[in-house]
Amino acid sequence: MKLFVFESSGFLNVGVTVDGLQININSLAEAMEHIEGKEAPYFDSVSSAIEQFDSIVKLIEWGKETFKDVFSTLFRVKRGKYYPPIDESSMVICLGKNYVEHAKETGGEIPEEPILFGKYARLAIGDTDTIIYPSWATRVDPEPELAVVIGRLCKDVEKENAMEYVFGYTIVNDVTERNIENKDVKKGLPWFRSKNFDTSLAIGPYIVTKDEINDPHNLFIELYVNGNLKQSGNTKDMIFKIDETISYISRYLTLLPGDIISTGTVPGILPVKAGDEISIKIDRIGTLTNKVKHDVDIG
Ligand code: MG
Repeated sequence: MKLFVFESSGFLNVGVTVDGLQININSLAEAMEHIEGKEAPYFDSVSSAIEQFDSIVKLIEWGKETFKDVFSTLFRVKRGKYYPPIDESSMVICLGKNYVEHAKETGGEIPEEPILFGKYARLAIGDTDTIIYPSWATRVDPEPELAVVIGRLCKDVEKENAMEYVFGYTIVNDVTERNIENKDVKKGLPWFRSKNFDTSLAIGPYIVTKDEINDPHNLFIELYVNGNLKQSGNTKDMIFKIDETISYISRYLTLLPGDIISTGTVPGILPVKAGDEISIKIDRIGTLTNKVKHDVDIG
């Protein structure tokens, strides 16, 4: 199944794709409340939908059985665009230099333990949203990454059990101002401003539940600029695998449902310019597309 965020009557809402149908789960919950006369769950955020995903599965079963042939007509989402599948209160923890060839191309050493930095969820944009090329920037690079979405509270977990805490996967474009990153790294300063500027985090289009991904460590990641393949890799080449990374992070802080860990860019980084269209494609997950525009061009 896929979990996505869409807009309906001016509000953001959570939907679920099941058997290829996009279902408005809150409308369905309302219908159940009305028909069964008992209080139904309400999913007002990505994290609440993840936390109560078992109730969503039951709700959909109830809906199919109750409405039969008209189920899809009644509860189908009249979708416009996908919004980023993350709550503003959630954490986005990113890995730096998690592929050997990428560590080499940035002139860095191969890390001996995960290199972590954060990005603010409030900066996130969704599929088809615009990446703003800032007026102060001289080199903006997209970074195509597999992102892991946490499914339940996770603290001090062992590597052996870590995959149980995964809810699903999505795509992250960890947009980076490379020249400022290099300048700050040389001075020993944090990688903050090069990684956290408006629209520097594209996420989506949706979260794919983990049961649909046999092996997250064997997925091709491709980045296209204006339809031309420019960067590619496979998640099998990650230095720190997902289980090890979750275990490592959970030593330092508590992860909650809806938090995202972005597992690092594949090698072959390159700059983009205003006017470019960037698409990141990951096997079995989907394609995340964003256009780059100068900030002065945004009306
Ligand atoms: Mg990155």
